[in-house]
Amino acid sequence: MNDSAADGTNGTGQGAGLAAGGLPVGAGDGTRAVRAGLPEPVKHEPTLPGPVFAAHFHLPGDPTGPYTYGRDENPTWTLLESAIGELEAPGQQDVRTLVFASGMAAISSVLFSQLRAGDAVVLPDDGYQALPLARAQLEAFGIEVRTAPTGGDAQLDVLDGARLLWLESPSNPGLDVCDIRRLVEAAHAQGTLVAVDNTLATPLGQRPLELGADFSVASGTKQLTGHGDVLLGYVAGRDGEAMAAVRRWRKIVGAIPGPMEAWLAHRSIATLQLRVDRQNASALALAEALRGRPEVTGLRYPGLADDPSHKVASQQMRRYGCVVSFTLPTRTRAERFLQALRLVDDATSFGGVRSTAERRGRWGGDAVPEGFVRFSVGAEDPADLVADVLRALDESAG
Ligand SMILES: *Cc1c(COP(=O)(O)O)cnc(C)c1O
Repeated sequence: MNDSAADGTNGTGQGAGLAAGGLPVGAGDGTRAVRAGLPEPVKHEPTLPGPVFAAHFHLPGDPTGPYTYGRDENPTWTLLESAIGELEAPGQQDVRTLVFASGMAAISSVLFSQLRAGDAVVLPDDGYQALPLARAQLEAFGIEVRTAPTGGDAQLDVLDGARLLWLESPSNPGLDVCDIRRLVEAAHAQGTLVAVDNTLATPLGQRPLELGADFSVASGTKQLTGHGDVLLGYVAGRDGEAMAAVRRWRKIVGAIPGPMEAWLAHRSIATLQLRVDRQNASALALAEALRGRPEVTGLRYPGLADDPSHKVASQQMRRYGCVVSFTLPTRTRAERFLQALRLVDDATSFGGVRSTAERRGRWGGDAVPEGFVRFSVGAEDPADLVADVLRALDESAG
């Protein structure tokens, strides 16, 4: 995938050929990922300062920031927030980023800080499985919730007069894609704010703020951190007032990441481009291998040239993610397949360096067939992985 021409070229320009942070103009994603959010080097200090464990900070006299109390700010978050902001919106100095305890904390902070009783919000009806829980709570607070599928930009049909449009593209687990620019234009024309759940794509796969969205929101638990050992969420946005309200909500609910989690996340971002490129290339190889199998139906991967999402995805995504979804004939067949895999753990979540897969219907929350498998491709050698999957398909047939 090509980097967009805008990469790193619109920074503050600290000198000829340099963008913000001293990066060469046009620096690639790998270069930006390894340097993201790092402070200016200080003699005898580590490159990435260690986690700051502090409930409070020394604060004589008038209580002025930035660091007062640990629920409001922490220096380890500050560095991580810069890193994520640099990847979500390269060179855009006005973008603010806030980190949260989890993706759901980030999502809830946008929903509950932006919506009031009497407002209407449009959600996808095929989005992340905890969205219906958020929906019930929004309705209990007197907010009207409308839903429509991600595919075919169907959320446009129920947009009229809404205060907020929530998009999830690609959607989890169905991998449908909507035309973010088109939906943003229609929303902004009537004063509707737009948030995009960018979890599946990661900021190296898609940059919702450049597509016009007001918020890019994600779970950092998945491919962003990529090791299956951290829960994290973030919100990036350009509108100062809206982001101040999101920050206030974080303070009210206290849904903050621990300093250790924030530091681990920042450390993991250094390898984001390596992991994403490897995992996404292997996901395409797996999808291509699955396409030839008669027992596989409903195969979806936005990077496949004949996938229903591919055309729109290729206009707005730079990489297509590490998740492949498909359906096996029955629930039993899917269970036997998962048991037969040796290199792939039967586990939920996605985006980690170790491949995982699960029969999504076991949770009951998604409208998927009983044999539906969501497969997250890890960093194993692609040939080993494809061979393991094909062998498990054969073995589970008996
Ligand atoms: C996992 C996920 C979330 C929730 O993130 P947590 O970190 O588990 O709270 C939200 N949106 C999408 C698309 C997800 O995959």
